[in-house]
Amino acid sequence: MTGAFAQRHIGTDAAAQRVMLDALGYADVDALVKTAVPASIQVQPRTTSDIPAAATEAEALAELRALASQNGAARPMIGLGYYDTLTPSVIARNVFENPSWYTAYTPYQPEISQGRLEALINFQTMVTDLTGLTTANASMLDESTAVVEGMLVARRASKSRSDAFLVDADALPQTKALLEHRAAALGIRIRYSSFDTSPPADLDVFGAFFQYPGASGRVWDPTEAIAAVKDAGGLVVVAADLLALTLLRSPGSMGADVAVGTTQRFGVPLGFGGPHAGYMAVRAGLERQLPGRLVGVSQDAAGHPAYRLSLQTREQHIRREKATSNICTAQVLLAVMASMYAVYHGPTGLTAIATEVAKKAQALAERLREHGLSVAHEAFFDTLRVTTPGPSERVIDRARERGYQLFWADDATVGVSVDETTTADDLAAVAWAFGLPEGEFLGAGEQGERALPFEGAEALAGVPSTLLRESGFLEHPVFNTHRSETAMMRYLKTLADRDYALDRGMIPLGSCTMKLNAATEMAAVSWPEFSRVHPFAPEADVHGYLAMIEQLEVWLAEVTGYDAVSLQPNAGSQGELAGLLAIRGYHHANGETERTVCLIPSSAHGTNAASAVLAGMKVVVVACDEAGNVDLDDLRAKIAAHADALAALMITYPSTHGVYEHDVLEITQAVHDAGGQVYVDGANLNALLGYARFGDLGGDVSHLNLHKTFAIPHGGGGPGVGPVAAKAHLAPYLPSHPLAQRKDHAGGHVFDGGPVSSAAYGSASILPITWAYVRMMGLAGLKDATAAAVLSANYIAFRLKDHFPVLYAGEGGLVAHECILDLRPLREATGVTVDDVAKRLIDYGFHAPTMSFPVAGTLMVEPTESEDLAEIERFVEAMIAIKAEADAVASGVWPAEDNPLVNAPHTAESVVAGEWAHPYSRETAVYPVHAIVRNKYWPPVRRIDQAYGDRNLVCACPPIEAFA
Ligand SMILES: *Cc1c(COP(=O)(O)O)cnc(C)c1O
Repeated sequence: MTGAFAQRHIGTDAAAQRVMLDALGYADVDALVKTAVPASIQVQPRTTSDIPAAATEAEALAELRALASQNGAARPMIGLGYYDTLTPSVIARNVFENPSWYTAYTPYQPEISQGRLEALINFQTMVTDLTGLTTANASMLDESTAVVEGMLVARRASKSRSDAFLVDADALPQTKALLEHRAAALGIRIRYSSFDTSPPADLDVFGAFFQYPGASGRVWDPTEAIAAVKDAGGLVVVAADLLALTLLRSPGSMGADVAVGTTQRFGVPLGFGGPHAGYMAVRAGLERQLPGRLVGVSQDAAGHPAYRLSLQTREQHIRREKATSNICTAQVLLAVMASMYAVYHGPTGLTAIATEVAKKAQALAERLREHGLSVAHEAFFDTLRVTTPGPSERVIDRARERGYQLFWADDATVGVSVDETTTADDLAAVAWAFGLPEGEFLGAGEQGERALPFEGAEALAGVPSTLLRESGFLEHPVFNTHRSETAMMRYLKTLADRDYALDRGMIPLGSCTMKLNAATEMAAVSWPEFSRVHPFAPEADVHGYLAMIEQLEVWLAEVTGYDAVSLQPNAGSQGELAGLLAIRGYHHANGETERTVCLIPSSAHGTNAASAVLAGMKVVVVACDEAGNVDLDDLRAKIAAHADALAALMITYPSTHGVYEHDVLEITQAVHDAGGQVYVDGANLNALLGYARFGDLGGDVSHLNLHKTFAIPHGGGGPGVGPVAAKAHLAPYLPSHPLAQRKDHAGGHVFDGGPVSSAAYGSASILPITWAYVRMMGLAGLKDATAAAVLSANYIAFRLKDHFPVLYAGEGGLVAHECILDLRPLREATGVTVDDVAKRLIDYGFHAPTMSFPVAGTLMVEPTESEDLAEIERFVEAMIAIKAEADAVASGVWPAEDNPLVNAPHTAESVVAGEWAHPYSRETAVYPVHAIVRNKYWPPVRRIDQAYGDRNLVCACPPIEAFA
């Protein structure tokens, strides 16, 4: 029986579903889904389940509180790329906890995304200013994957024929592990150098990587080594700490080609490892090599500046196996937060924070040295490596006794990192842990006198003056205006108001599953027991997290029919990569190293092909037939042609065409017979959950998108979680992590593949969302959600089929959870394009469906289970009205070059300024249906000229005069 929460989550109630079912001619919703899903793959009812019956919202919160209380409250001083930070409350409340920001989608429709695009261009400006390079993207998934992508930029752009990449021995341990794992699949050799005697003699490399400051805290001058690598034809990638860069020379000024890193400590909670935004910036000339999303400035139909995504032709959607990377979902919400931290503090505030951090480290080092301890480096920013008098374990235990986590570097060395949250009391406790007398740190002053004892310390005392920053940064007005909380709150509101998110109306994006992100699901993410946890905290301090993760692994394995689940991948694309690397590991373990071909249907999502290449595989495309299904004959021919080289087939189920393929069992069998493994892309799980399982379809491994099917919000283009789920034979090759608290996972499986993320459990802090979703829905509720989603998609297909042909359908003429509307006939008949319809929908108060994927000239509509019938009808009526407008163009009522469609979207300015000279009324322009008069969403810009922005590439904040 459906629980109370499921009735809140599912938008259509029994009466609404009755109306829809009557229209479609089905007795009940279960009958509809059972007609659509092929009988051969439907799950048998289960007698036992590990998923408990649905909890109420209050019960789920209470259980989450209990889990949270099992995470220790120790203060992390571990460093290694993760620092505690003070999220300004104005940003926590108005961004992090604000559905206007967190429920938006990736800004593919730029006219209704100007707010977050501005926030992201602020992010890019912040990164380029601090790194001293010309172009930055928004954003990378984390620091270590950004380093890997930096290595790949170097390989693409270097003229060197070498297969070697030189890596700083003082790189973060997780970065080294990622580099080794990813390089192995691509035939790249990793060589290490400590750069003690710079530069190393053998520079036959295509590039080099430096950590700045080093993992050990060391600050040194890599300029000479950088020049040497470049002279030898290599490119240089530097991972730099942005807070340190407010005081230290920028990588760009030292000659780096690429800078990467994390923006976590700019106000983004630790969250046990994520999500946080990574960054990448490149020097001029490398823009086209940049992976990921890049925001740029273009202009709208009125010639006003407007933001949009630039150079999209680099991306996997278009370039597929030739793409610069497989990144799709990035870390938009976290990039917005980090950029707003810079907007709020400005250059002066950031410099002050960095200076205080450096002083604290300096003061601690001085006290330790005064007491005869040896601190490794003279020059450091925030991190010390201290030689301990006895075993390092003893110091770490003493610190833990006082509630602090230090880093065990080796038997006689402890690492300590300070951050903006570190207080004098914290420093005193740490000094005590090292054996200094009680209260030593508080200095000569009276007890209770808290004159900061580090005030007098000299920041960066040991850093050579040549390494100090001289250039200014964040000089743009946006970083120098919003100082009061009132101003900041209003800036955030102004930007949020420009955007269309789920808090305004439906976002029927096919293949994206924009369902409800319930408030109860979101609550725990902000709790300090989940948010202020370091990813490398000792196991004893993260029992709550580990228990929750284990439960989720069990639940997700059960609903997908797999044996083991890793939650490490930070997006679907990373789950794909992890799954393909597991397949590679399996073939290698069996001595079948020649299995490198990955078959991918032509309809597949672009990430599939891009991920296969990153896993060292060769992509062979399989044709689809007219019905949109995999062409079985072509599949068999391709299998035969590659026989012993077949590594895998990647197939999406239900297909990206939104139909349940009938032959799926035959397809997977054919691949297995030839010795290949089957990867089922699980992005469309919302069409299947509770009715069929990938493991039963013959899948060996899948990724899921928790930010689609399992209620994690899209954040305007990230974060995401892309767990990889596999059968037992692939489990040993799933991602491990050198600093994981546990090696074993649910079901007793031990994962031993290399890592694919900086943190062992990826974006752990958003897992409570999915945990709460499953806990409150229960198995029955999840199944009901699937049925409601499929019903709504079919109802929309039914209501619109006389106006727009539905491109593909399966059994009983039914679609799955989404439907593709073919707008090509409309274009032929009327000249109105899919773009015109998408932009006209904005005038009607809607976010457009997915445009031209997987078929050019179409719209793919996915309503999800969360939309109610009234909203669905509003959308259907808008589409029908737009069709009528297109017909009016065709019949000559309006000229082809001047009608409400080609001119859409209409801004307020466009209908009030000057003479109205169009052949349709202003009311038709902006109030095409009367119902929206009171609820009008006003787009801030008119249609944006995409090509102009690519021809005139500007990817940093434009001067404010541009908006005059
Ligand atoms: C969304 C999607 C992906 C990629 O997932 P991300 O989380 O955006 O990386 C892969 N395949 C399909 C079919 C998708 O819809």
